[in-house]
Amino acid sequence: MHSLCTRRPNLCRSFRVADLLDVSSRCWREDLISSLFTCEETKAIVSIPIGGPNVKDEIVWARSKDGTYSVKSGYHFVMEKTKGPQVSSSSTDLSNDKAFWNSIWNLKVPSKIKTFIWKACHNIIPSKGILFNRFHGSFGGGSLCPRCGDKVESVEHMMFFCPFASTVWKCSEFGYEPESKGFPGFGMWWKKLSNLNNKGLFSDGLNLLAFLCWQIWKSRNSLIFSNFVDSPIDVWNRALGAFEEFNSVLNPLPSLSVAESVNDEVDSVSSLWTAPPPGTLKINCDTAYDAKRGAAAAACVARDVTGQIINGDAISFPSLSVSSAEAMAVRLGVLLALKEKWERVIFESDNKGVIDRINSVMPNAWESAAVEKDIASLVVPFPFFSFRFVKRECNVVADWVARANLKGFCSSNWFANPPPELLSLLSTLDAPHNFSPYLLPDATMIGFDHGFK
Ligand SMILES: [Zn+2]
Repeated sequence: MHSLCTRRPNLCRSFRVADLLDVSSRCWREDLISSLFTCEETKAIVSIPIGGPNVKDEIVWARSKDGTYSVKSGYHFVMEKTKGPQVSSSSTDLSNDKAFWNSIWNLKVPSKIKTFIWKACHNIIPSKGILFNRFHGSFGGGSLCPRCGDKVESVEHMMFFCPFASTVWKCSEFGYEPESKGFPGFGMWWKKLSNLNNKGLFSDGLNLLAFLCWQIWKSRNSLIFSNFVDSPIDVWNRALGAFEEFNSVLNPLPSLSVAESVNDEVDSVSSLWTAPPPGTLKINCDTAYDAKRGAAAAACVARDVTGQIINGDAISFPSLSVSSAEAMAVRLGVLLALKEKWERVIFESDNKGVIDRINSVMPNAWESAAVEKDIASLVVPFPFFSFRFVKRECNVVADWVARANLKGFCSSNWFANPPPELLSLLSTLDAPHNFSPYLLPDATMIGFDHGFK
């Protein structure tokens, strides 16, 4: 993954990895590391999650998910080395990227929206700029944007950089601020997000994004054909409404019941947070991730049978791997339960991979294996514990805390004295039908920080 360029300093006789670790606090000695390695290398090193004392070091093959070598992955590695990276060659030409085009047809959105995204990626949306070019200037409508009249109406201008469009993005929960400088084009932009989606980073976000792009296009057409002047917030609200309506048809809500028994699977299919059974606590764990900064925040929120927050923790740390950051969040929850000496605890995460690996129903993934194995060794003293996967909608409270922590506006006593935004999320236990997991109290401030800002 990362090969070191730094040479061993002359005076340095022996350095083992252990010398770079502060074992008691399970931390990297960042000062020492940054004095020895380049900035890039330091970042990569301190982003490696550290396992517990019972987790053995292993040599892994970073080109496979489970860390074991296979001839196939070795072959691909060699081919990449000799041919140059495939990804960058396709960065300007998506035409042969079958998986990418398939991913558009696999979106969970109506067909007309799939077709629209497909066309936008091919740069064949009939915007004024494109029509003007195609007909060599004989297109009577001119090439300028019908909204601002200031720039040529390209797909990118219409979708992102026109002041109207950029306000729509600001109003949206994505909290995205499009930047024209260095923008790779709609197709590459979509591909980047689609890759995040494949890594499980973006969850339903890509589908919602498709709805939003479609609504921006529709709003532009109403302006041209019906002279209808829209407002940016209405565009976002229509996209969200259409997305939720479409989803409610696809996945109707199961009939709700408060978890009756610890072992039942109600929570794993529920779309709302459910209280733990009496005598048991539930700890929701989640992560916010900023791929650009290589930073993550993990949060855990412990709640009782009444849904009250009784304790919690949040940390931020450098990270280059989403799955290891998600595992860190679950470990944070486990460490909190151990510190508080709670005996009956349900741990929930909306990362299925992490939960399945902790429950050993899925093979190890080397990126997060150290932390997941540590979790397995930490839970030994619990008389009762359970690790469960839940939908994102059930995990909004932990999600909020993680995002707030990543953005640096989470007060240290958030669990004793929850801020109003957090309180409004907590009240969802009582008012399930008024609740949308996508509506955040202050979207511009919180953002939708799954790494594409
Ligand atoms: Zn414009």
